[in-house]
Amino acid sequence: MDHRKQVSTRRTPIYRDAGFVFDSIAQSKQAFADEGRYPQSSERLIYTRYGNPTVMETEQAIANLEGSQWAILTSSGMAAIDVALAVFQQREKTGPWLFFSEIYGGTNAYITQVLEQRRGIEIGRFMPKDSEEKYDLAELVEMLDRVKPQLLYFEPVSNPLLIVADGNEIIRIGKERGINVIVDNTFATPFLWRPLQSGADLVVHSATKYLSGHGNITAGVVCGNNVELRKEALTYRKLVGHILSPDDAYRLGTQLKTFDLRFSRQCENAFKLAQTLETHPNVENVRYPGLTSHTTHPEAVKLFGANGFGAMVTFECKGGRAACEIFIANVASAIKYVPTLGDPDSILIHVPTVFTEERFPFPGMIRLSVGFESYQTLEASVLKALEAI
Ligand code: PLP
Repeated sequence: MDHRKQVSTRRTPIYRDAGFVFDSIAQSKQAFADEGRYPQSSERLIYTRYGNPTVMETEQAIANLEGSQWAILTSSGMAAIDVALAVFQQREKTGPWLFFSEIYGGTNAYITQVLEQRRGIEIGRFMPKDSEEKYDLAELVEMLDRVKPQLLYFEPVSNPLLIVADGNEIIRIGKERGINVIVDNTFATPFLWRPLQSGADLVVHSATKYLSGHGNITAGVVCGNNVELRKEALTYRKLVGHILSPDDAYRLGTQLKTFDLRFSRQCENAFKLAQTLETHPNVENVRYPGLTSHTTHPEAVKLFGANGFGAMVTFECKGGRAACEIFIANVASAIKYVPTLGDPDSILIHVPTVFTEERFPFPGMIRLSVGFESYQTLEASVLKALEAI
């Protein structure tokens, strides 16, 4: 007896099947032939690692958000970065690749340990102007013309100093020179900026952060407009097995529906909290791109317009590490010490401990990922903990 009944659903169900049924040899032959020509082009899907209806539905939702022709979901942000970069790797024709130095530490480690040391790719790093916490685009132009990289990779908002790059201008000068440009847009999100509209070739996200937004999914996504790049990215994802699971894709699809609401509230909370922190006597300084005191406030205004300034706030407690310990202990019932970002509740890390003292020699520095909880409660908890110092 067949227990399946006809039902209509608003969403694609969770298809957990590893492989899909064929009615005939002819049908399977056609499906594999189509798949060989262009991944997922067949009428019939073949195997979940190649493509899955539940995953495809959430991919479409992210493409709509990012304003891209396509999106490809992966099992983590790092897997998305691996897919995006692999697309441009072509044996000896690969040429040098230039990365901004102020990018996620995991990406930096991947660049050194995988791209450089295992795959032998020539890597350059573009650094902010000496001790100014600002990028100098004249220096970037000079470096592009000297190194002649085939690929340029950057994040519009650095972590943890929140240095904002003049993203549209960087893409323009890169593309003018025929360089492939990849943007990790995790911190800005499509709510603040859509790099593909300015001509970036690919955008990646750690969807573990704001896109899923609840600290309960590890996922990544690559977005783009070019069909050849999509073909390369789908083929590589299939061969290395980086696809997101249907269960996580379904949950991500649900959580995406509140993305705008969550992130706009997070940006609002962050802005208010940054302003409050800036005037507090126990706070040495605050780094938040929305504050006029931030070194890259003009870049942030230029790039994000009136959309907001992000939901990360970095500040230094007066009194260094000892003061931080008191702050962290006193705020712990409201704000936990968790090494991720983009959660519903505000969370924090002690910067020199998590990112190393060598790179960030600021003993009193705390990075807050601001949540979408009630602002009054958040501010009260932070002020109480600052008083304790
Ligand atoms: N990109 C950025 C900017 C990140 O902050 C992270 C992780 O923190 C990643 C990529 C990697 O993402 P995941 O941890 O989902 O692999």
